[in-house]
Amino acid sequence: MSYTDLVNIEEFEKRENFNMERWDVAFYCKDCKKLVETERPNPQWYTFLCKICESKNVVIWTEEGLKSNYKLK
Ligand SMILES: [Zn+2]
Repeated sequence: MSYTDLVNIEEFEKRENFNMERWDVAFYCKDCKKLVETERPNPQWYTFLCKICESKNVVIWTEEGLKSNYKLK
């Protein structure tokens, strides 16, 4: 996988270290404005849908990184 497969991670630093398989990643929905669970409609794609609002506007990153980037509690 490459960064071009991912959406909406441009805000983050250290993306060269991103490894989804190795890291404990979390999902942040920009529409719900919180961490959410997601559906992955096609295992071939790195596309994730928010389970709450079904938006694709989902950011994939470490939970720690998301919390600090979006100032979540
Ligand atoms: Zn959502």
